[in-house]
Amino acid sequence: MTTFEAFPDGQGFDRSQDLGDPRVVDLICDDVLEGRYCHVHAGIECKTWSVMQYSFGGSRSRDDPLGNGRREAEVTGNRQMQQLMRILLCCLATATDFTVENPQTSILWLVPLFVQILALPFVETAIIHQCAYGLGSPPGSSPVEVWKKPTRISGALHGLASLSRKCPGGHVHGDLGRRSLLTLASGKKVAKITLAASYPAPLVKSLIEIVGAAWCDGDPQPNRDC
Ligand SMILES: [Zn+2]
Repeated sequence: MTTFEAFPDGQGFDRSQDLGDPRVVDLICDDVLEGRYCHVHAGIECKTWSVMQYSFGGSRSRDDPLGNGRREAEVTGNRQMQQLMRILLCCLATATDFTVENPQTSILWLVPLFVQILALPFVETAIIHQCAYGLGSPPGSSPVEVWKKPTRISGALHGLASLSRKCPGGHVHGDLGRRSLLTLASGKKVAKITLAASYPAPLVKSLIEIVGAAWCDGDPQPNRDC
């Protein structure tokens, strides 16, 4: 498995992992085109695509998902999205499975080229309330909270829809606003949204099981050469 994380362990920015940099993505595209991956999963940074962007003066909208081009953060987000589309087109060209994750209500899902990719007949979607997979504050933190974080994963992956889960109820959801902090057991204060960015382990396990089951097993993508 190969992973890319532009902010490894939250410690600074690693340019060699920047998926907005075409030179980094060139290498990924080469690997996809040469058949080195059985699956590509992308959790593109949602900062400017989230509906929360409206609170910060964002210009994206349903009718204009790319925004007005005047906000640097949105231009950066657009650049990352364009590079992601390059990777997805390489996946489609080689019948490589892929999945993309963003908030359920993200404006990313409305980008025209992406809409066309998502309309392909073998694309499936999962809507996930992450509390159903155990997303919440770490042990010993204060406050102790459960986080719903409605999330969508869409992609060319047979069985992906089975990953969908709704909140089972019986708990109260904590606030994941960008200014909401909690105190870790170590005493360090951290933004809840940062902690909630990591998938809960049961969600990762379930996704990997679906990827494994789909590999060479009735995947509906055409031209698959197993
Ligand atoms: Zn819940």
